[in-house]
Amino acid sequence: MVGMGKDLTNKTVGELGAVVGDLGGKSYFGGYIFSFIHTRDVVDISEITPLPKVFRGRLVEEGYYIGRLGLVDRLEDPDGTVKFVFELHDGPRVETVLMRGAEGSDRNTLCISCQAGCRMGCSFCATGKLKFGRNLTAGEIVDQVNYVWANCGRISNVVYMGMGEPMDNYDEVLRSVRILNDKNGKNIGQRRITISTCGVTGGIERLAGEGLQVRLGVSLHAATDETRKRIMPIAGRYPLVKLIGSTRKYQRVTGRRVTFEYCMIKGINDSNADAAGVVKLIGSLKANVNLIEYNSHKGCSFSPSDRARIHRFRDILTGDGIETVIRYKRGRSINAACGQLGLANSKY
Ligand code: SF4
Repeated sequence: MVGMGKDLTNKTVGELGAVVGDLGGKSYFGGYIFSFIHTRDVVDISEITPLPKVFRGRLVEEGYYIGRLGLVDRLEDPDGTVKFVFELHDGPRVETVLMRGAEGSDRNTLCISCQAGCRMGCSFCATGKLKFGRNLTAGEIVDQVNYVWANCGRISNVVYMGMGEPMDNYDEVLRSVRILNDKNGKNIGQRRITISTCGVTGGIERLAGEGLQVRLGVSLHAATDETRKRIMPIAGRYPLVKLIGSTRKYQRVTGRRVTFEYCMIKGINDSNADAAGVVKLIGSLKANVNLIEYNSHKGCSFSPSDRARIHRFRDILTGDGIETVIRYKRGRSINAACGQLGLANSKY
């Protein structure tokens, strides 16, 4: 197995500076390496031409390399959504989804994965049914953005809502945010990056203290612990009172608005009483809600709420002053919609 500690894609500018310093190079060589990897998409150390040839040779001799993901499939939905299936160097596969903005818009949102599989086991999610593979390194997370940017154009927004639970791979996720945000690289604004959690409260509180401007998404999906436990096993460990308490603390520290994700599942969490419950839970927070039209998939007994039901649910929330947007299914024909990642291409 390749020594991942030698992967230059996986290092911040500061870490690269330390690497070159240890090898007797000038500290600014670290900036060259970073920008050539993250803006010029070089795949080989020999292509970083501002570095003296001897020094490039030294890096190679020491076992350093530029880690890149291998694309194994690319699928396009008629609605413009594109799914990329990448294979990690040791075998697991992860999926990344590009959602293009409306015609004329420069908004291109990339939904990225941070783990191969997921330990959280949400019953409505295909990824949750996979055997957990491993955490991705920051380099493997960032390279999803690098690949799609190089092949499909500029990415304006990044959401950590693909395969895996970001708070369960906290350190690598945070390092990847810092790499993506670095002005020597992709320079993606922190406010254009969303980290979404299914409710790992320790991670929410830790994120509050990072001094970052990233957005926080919280997968709520139910207004009572009873319903939540039915579809999200994590609710047993982090009950709603704890989740809302941590979210409140996060908001007190950061002053930032929080987005709650709510997947509309027929007969499970979509009644008027559920909507009233959501209002009661989050009404006093500075928050907005994304109502996600559920995507059923093979092996899952749930079905999506009717559109009229979703509209009624939204009206109850907005009637109480909660900004609410309905996210209709996208990328369904390629299994790229919310909750469908990992369905067709897992081999682990
Ligand atoms: S919804 Fe998210 S946290 Fe839950 S199993 Fe799927 S990937 Fe994991």
